[in-house]
Amino acid sequence: MRHVAIIGSGPAGYYTAEAAQKQWGDDVRVDIFDRLPVPYGLIRTGVAPDHQSIKGVSKRYESVSMAANSRFLGNVTIGEDVSIAELQELYDAVVLATGAPNDKMPGLPGENLGNVFGSATFVGWYNGHPNFAKLNPQLSGKTAVVIGNGNVALDVARILAKTRAEFAGSDIVGHALDLLDSSKLERIVILGRRGPHQIAMTPKELGELGHLTRACPRVDPADLPDEGEDALLEPGQRKSVNHLRSFAAIPESHRADMAIEIEFDFFAAPKSIMGSDGKVTAVEVERTRLEGGRAVGTGEIYEIPADIVVACIGYQTSPIPGVPFEENAGRFANAEGRILPGLYCVGWARRGPSGTIGTNRPDGFSVVEKIAEDIGNGGGKKGSAGFDAIAAARKLDIVEFHDWQKIDQAEVQRAREGAPREKFVRVEDMIGAAGLE
Ligand code: NAP
Repeated sequence: MRHVAIIGSGPAGYYTAEAAQKQWGDDVRVDIFDRLPVPYGLIRTGVAPDHQSIKGVSKRYESVSMAANSRFLGNVTIGEDVSIAELQELYDAVVLATGAPNDKMPGLPGENLGNVFGSATFVGWYNGHPNFAKLNPQLSGKTAVVIGNGNVALDVARILAKTRAEFAGSDIVGHALDLLDSSKLERIVILGRRGPHQIAMTPKELGELGHLTRACPRVDPADLPDEGEDALLEPGQRKSVNHLRSFAAIPESHRADMAIEIEFDFFAAPKSIMGSDGKVTAVEVERTRLEGGRAVGTGEIYEIPADIVVACIGYQTSPIPGVPFEENAGRFANAEGRILPGLYCVGWARRGPSGTIGTNRPDGFSVVEKIAEDIGNGGGKKGSAGFDAIAAARKLDIVEFHDWQKIDQAEVQRAREGAPREKFVRVEDMIGAAGLE
């Protein structure tokens, strides 16, 4: 028998569990841990609430959890409730699928001012992550500045721009919906330090900005390269740039009917964040030009008034004491997912915050190949039984999959009309709904 512990129940964790099930069938036992009492990680608290079709993948993870050879063990914090070393004693393979849950900030003067957030925090707020549910951003000002030209910047700009009606069918949490509904924003500026050809936005997501009820995107035609140069782009990137071209061609008459403008400010590198009384008032920006694909400052400085700033420039993985970490790349030091025999990493913990949900599937399968090379038929370890003994001795309140199903049911029952669920945003309430108080 082989015993595998997976730390993190997001896509990377679940695809690894699925791969282990396929590889060994009845000859493996997989325990999937999460520090939250609820599973699915980024699917629940990262993917935008109005992208429900992407969240549908959790049905697949559900069947992985329900397999007889696997368990979900929520509400267990590795490093507090049980150490990595203890898990290594108990399991043949320990897989870190811990993602990149922390804000990456640009390191600008003034970024600690009030109403300046990183994307992990802000996305966590509107998605009801217990760590960020109390954020209470102020949306009473006119201008938001979103830093970054990736898909998260798009998510944040779109969520800030949508009307209550446009959230129908989404699982945005009530506290965020109410605050967004009272928003007074008129302008959302998306700052890109490079140009339209260098965006990290995908076409479907970018195209959505062109179909909002009260908001209209604006692109300065002068920022767009000659159309002929688009031929050099990959097909996906060309489609994205086509969207930018169509935004640049939107007639002023159409804009006049829109309450909010979403303005793409390209070749614009943030220099500092300015404020008064501890709260942001403006972003100081330097105009850039491209040199060999890199953004280089031109010395031209200007200010954008800003009432809220969200930096969407990536995420960071949390290092774990004793586990080799590559600071610059923001991931555990690994060779194709192997940190050392018996200890592995997958997903964003392995490669940094890049790729889509689907990228994690081949990642999971390839790390299981490495595990298979290292552990053979297993080393006669105690596995789940050993962990259960620790959990009983330490009186841990473990949330198993059938407990999560009770939480799930309760969330579905308390949903506002038309919504798939109303998430619990406090760990105590999740535990309560599972009947474990
Ligand atoms: P990302 O795709 O890596 O984009 C980060 C952006 O921030 C880039 O435009 C980058 O510009 C910019 N940036 C980095 N450092 C900066 C700085 N100091 N100042 C100004 N700009 C800076 O990251 P992300 O948007 O957080 O997304 C993470 C991953 O999740 C991506 O793979 C993304 O596709 C995926 N995702 C997918 C979806 C979806 O499919 N619907 C939704 C959300 C996220 P440079 O290019 O110049 O470095």
